[in-house]
Amino acid sequence: MSWFVKFWGTRGSIPTPGPQSRKYGGNTSCVEIHADPALLICDGGTGLRELGMDLLKRKKGEPIRGHFLFSHTHWDHIQGFPFFVPAYDPRNEFLVYGTSRGDRRTFDLLSGQMRSEYFPVEFSELRSRIAPADLGDGHAHVEGFSVRCVELKHPGRAFAFAFEKEGKKVVYATDNELDLVLADPDQPGREPNARRSFPEPLVEFMRGADLLIGDGQYTDEEYPHRIGWGHSRASTLVDLALAAEVRQLAVFHHDPMQSDRDVDRKIDLCRERAARQGGKVVVFGAREGLELRIG
Ligand SMILES: [Zn+2]
Ligand SMILES: [Zn+2]
Repeated sequence: MSWFVKFWGTRGSIPTPGPQSRKYGGNTSCVEIHADPALLICDGGTGLRELGMDLLKRKKGEPIRGHFLFSHTHWDHIQGFPFFVPAYDPRNEFLVYGTSRGDRRTFDLLSGQMRSEYFPVEFSELRSRIAPADLGDGHAHVEGFSVRCVELKHPGRAFAFAFEKEGKKVVYATDNELDLVLADPDQPGREPNARRSFPEPLVEFMRGADLLIGDGQYTDEEYPHRIGWGHSRASTLVDLALAAEVRQLAVFHHDPMQSDRDVDRKIDLCRERAARQGGKVVVFGAREGLELRIG
């Protein structure tokens, strides 16, 4: 059974509609992983609204069952949820996963953003069945997928997820400041070297992935002004992808200040960096509407 990854929102921090972002899109984080009828959704940024509309069309009135895996609950990862139309239909069912046994933090915070001070519809008015679930000890089987999680470096905590099915692997790892976990931070003029000291558990988590969707928000020029904000420069993400020997790297969570041309340039630099190290990884910029067949 084939499975697919589709990008519904690839922008970081805040939506960026307009002519500058036509190519990569302006919606915030939302990635769909599906192997019909299995439906897994990574994050509910504004891209989730359009996924909801698409599901209504695709499912043609059939009940919808989906599994939500939120990296964390910063606004740009949850703000599409109140506009996810399938959540209003009593025939539908959605599970919201915590990352450890009994962890309902995400489920509870999702309902918080729909308090009447913030949104006109109360969480309790969502007619679908929405229930908490969890990944137990950090690993669970969800509709034929093996799903694991690992904690990332981000203010207030964020988690990456690895999905495996039929020998193929996809890792979703956004909102992560890689430079702060490196034992050998970048030095000006230093030649790139993928054998940098990333934490071994992180490299192992990503090892051999067919697709890594990773936080590559900043260019090398931008990053020094954003240290501690919880995001990575794309060049460090490339080094991690090489260290973990991933096949394809989708640079994700583009900075809202970056136009399509800026993202193009960022990706060109990533490709050059990978090539200088003799790496075989295929690097591209995650863009809204792109669908990839994985298995
Ligand atoms: Zn974010
Ligand atoms: Zn965040």
